Amino acid sequence: MIKTKAFAAYDAKTPLKPFSLERREPNADDVVIQISHCGICHSDIHTVRSEWGPAKYPCVPGHEIVGHVIQVGKKVKAFKVGDTAGVGCFVDSCGKCENCKANEEQYCQRQTVYTYNSYETDGKTPTYGGYSSHITVREKYCLKIKKSLPLAAVAPLLCAGITTYSPLKRYNVKKGSKVGVVGLGGLGHMAVKLAKAMGAEVTVFSTSPNKSGDAKKLGAKYFIISKNPKNILDKSGYFDLIIDTVSAEHDINPYLQSLKKDGTVVLLGVPPTPHKINAFSLIGGRKRLTGSLIGGIKETQEMLDFCAKKKVFSDIELISADQINEAYERTIKGDVKYRFVIDATTF
Ligand code: NAP
Ligand code: ZN
Ligand code: ZN
Repeated sequence: MIKTKAFAAYDAKTPLKPFSLERREPNADDVVIQISHCGICHSDIHTVRSEWGPAKYPCVPGHEIVGHVIQVGKKVKAFKVGDTAGVGCFVDSCGKCENCKANEEQYCQRQTVYTYNSYETDGKTPTYGGYSSHITVREKYCLKIKKSLPLAAVAPLLCAGITTYSPLKRYNVKKGSKVGVVGLGGLGHMAVKLAKAMGAEVTVFSTSPNKSGDAKKLGAKYFIISKNPKNILDKSGYFDLIIDTVSAEHDINPYLQSLKKDGTVVLLGVPPTPHKINAFSLIGGRKRLTGSLIGGIKETQEMLDFCAKKKVFSDIELISADQINEAYERTIKGDVKYRFVIDATTF
């Protein structure tokens, strides 16, 4: 077994604390990664605080993982010792269902095994995430990362990057597309950078007036304070696509109104309470409201290659393990520029 140092939540209310666990020795198709960095996603916070239902404690969060391969199983072909690798939000799936076969393992019809707060396919071995020193994962669920890239700034691509890239591609964002991004946090800032890199004109809707300068630097043309719905309605009928990354309760009706005919609002954020939708917001202009969950392994690799080529990485604040709890409080306040990333050598 591989001795692994980690940080875990022991319940929904108290701060995360040091935790030890053992990773499995590699099976024939496994890769063992010594983690160098792991991003802090707002989903980690929702999960450990049981905001989406009771978490499985102790819970080691983290699904924006990069590191170096230190061992490989006998049949591993795609990775060798010394390679740089990434792991995102899931570490296994059935591999046989319609969605797995279509390279969308995140929608596995049997069981997507999430990187943490989940069970392996045996239904009983808990999964522990990337707030840890090592992880063992099947090679099929690992991503290839070029050695020369800035690894701390690459880590957030494994969730924030793919989660925003996938709907931008699906709804065909290209030169001249008008894209709105709601919420300038971890996902939001990646959505701005990626939409800009695809040639779109980007508008940020934010509750934080002090993020205006940053939004422009990240690639947005317009910055709109969303606290007053009138500001959103000034853009009625304007957008092809709006990506909503907000983690807390907010009104999405004004965003639906700011779409063009046949435009789409994609929900990525998961507030703990349900949205209220006025049917007229959808009916007038045949608007679409949809959601999207991360992305499959194939698309995640495509996104990583796109980001490497376009030099699109996350803006990060690097922290040590003992700063995780403080980082959670700052993330909740919207005070993060724009992703906290843990230096995994500090576990
Ligand atoms: P984050 O860094 O905390 O960013 C969320 C942003 O939402 C904040 O920076 C803030 O932006 C805005 N916001 C916060 N409270 C708000 C409020 N009361 N009203 C309006 N806006 C508010 O979080 P994240 O890591 O990007 O994650 C965002 C959400 O996406 C979370 O719910 C997370 O669980 C979810 N998520 C979903 C997927 C998926 O596959 N669909 C994947 C990853 C994460 P401003 O300061 O600019 O207003
Ligand atoms: Zn995430
Ligand atoms: Zn499946």
